[in-house]
Amino acid sequence: MFDKVLIANRGEIALRIHRACKEMGITTVAVHSTADADAMHVRLADESVCLGPPAAAKSYLNIPALIAACEITGAQAIHPGYGFLSENARFAEIIDAHGLVFIGPKAHHIRMMGDKIAAKAAVKAAGIPVVPGSDGGISDDATALAVAEEIGYPVLVKAAAGGGGRGMKVAHSRDELSVALSMARSEAKNAFGDDTVYLEKYLGRPRHIEIQVIADEFGNVVHLGERDCSLQRRHQKVWEEAPSPALNAEERAEIGDIVVKAIKSLGYLGVGTIEFLYEDGRFYFIEMNTRLQVEHPVTEMITGVDLVREQIRIAAGMPLSFTQEDVVFEGVAIECRVNAEDPVTFTPSPGTISDFHAPGGLGVRLDSAIYTGYKIPPYYDSLIGKLIVHGRNRNECLMRLRRSLQEMVVGGVKTTIPLFLRLVQERDIIDGDYNIHWLEKWLASQAQDPPA
Ligand code: ADP
Repeated sequence: MFDKVLIANRGEIALRIHRACKEMGITTVAVHSTADADAMHVRLADESVCLGPPAAAKSYLNIPALIAACEITGAQAIHPGYGFLSENARFAEIIDAHGLVFIGPKAHHIRMMGDKIAAKAAVKAAGIPVVPGSDGGISDDATALAVAEEIGYPVLVKAAAGGGGRGMKVAHSRDELSVALSMARSEAKNAFGDDTVYLEKYLGRPRHIEIQVIADEFGNVVHLGERDCSLQRRHQKVWEEAPSPALNAEERAEIGDIVVKAIKSLGYLGVGTIEFLYEDGRFYFIEMNTRLQVEHPVTEMITGVDLVREQIRIAAGMPLSFTQEDVVFEGVAIECRVNAEDPVTFTPSPGTISDFHAPGGLGVRLDSAIYTGYKIPPYYDSLIGKLIVHGRNRNECLMRLRRSLQEMVVGGVKTTIPLFLRLVQERDIIDGDYNIHWLEKWLASQAQDPPA
């Protein structure tokens, strides 16, 4: 096992990784920008290294500075968290070339899954159901029109290099398709420097359901069930829960089995998430994330598995500490992403936290790096905490979530807590009756008819 791990991230996820390390007896090295010198992840770590100025490109994304930080401190492994360099294959290779360990999958899997066309082809060949569409990139409009006729409108034009929903355009007819193609191409070129696009059948009212997997180097692969992340705004997840209110045990076992077989055949290592759209009882692959996800705690809450601990063990060459048969799903967990944003306009609200009170009690977990007097810098994303609540059933979970939200105090900045307090009282949310469009539709209706 490693003696010392460098955590190449900030905020709540840096703290999350620090906690797993400490429980394993590992010394931690925090890294930070000059804007984060007083951050909690720096304060709690055993050692810390300043990487550079606030801009992420000069600090958290600065690969030479990160490697130097390992050399200075003697850290043997790097945990990238999520975001930043977590899905950068080159970073994984550089770490390896320096005789250090990247706590994550193999570089070639990161690269493969980062190319959506290659990813789709690979998982399809491994037996995972995909959305009907073009087999590969589309270079001319005539081919696109032919594929669209075959799969039927509406269709979705997507960028091969896509991310964050950019470079995606829906077309409902032949006429709309050529416009969608040129718009998606130029958006993709601008955002990713690659204008390769492909075509998919557009699903009208799917849920977003993703399967958590974990694999060691001895060929053991286990799935940890699903997370339902259908509540999204601008393709950003807002609320995640496990299990999905839409799946039964049979469907869970069936898709879990398909995913485990595929991950085995791909020879994947570490934690990963296969994201699906789910409609009318069928799963359609959209992408694979080759990293720990923001919403991983809901899975931890219903399974009792510490995903970060397992990641570190796997990276150290150890086997998974449990088998598929050991995994028991208990109760329901919901996560709310608390952002420092106006709860109505979603405008970021950086500033100083004047007072802070964390909710507590049975089944309540707050993953956050804020404290009273903490100054939220304007340079990074606005996530200031994840409130994760567990209950024996969904009703208990919702009641507990509501009272936890009522207890939580974050003063001095605007947060999205009021949004969640309204959501937990909505009929459709209580019934678990929502799809990926529900939240945006609801927000639009609220804007017309604002709460008193
Ligand atoms: P990105 O990597 O840009 O986030 P994804 O492929 O993960 O792209 O898709 C992002 C979101 O776009 C999905 O969560 C879903 O809401 C929507 N989406 C993607 N593919 C389809 C599809 N074929 N039909 C309907 N919606 C889709």
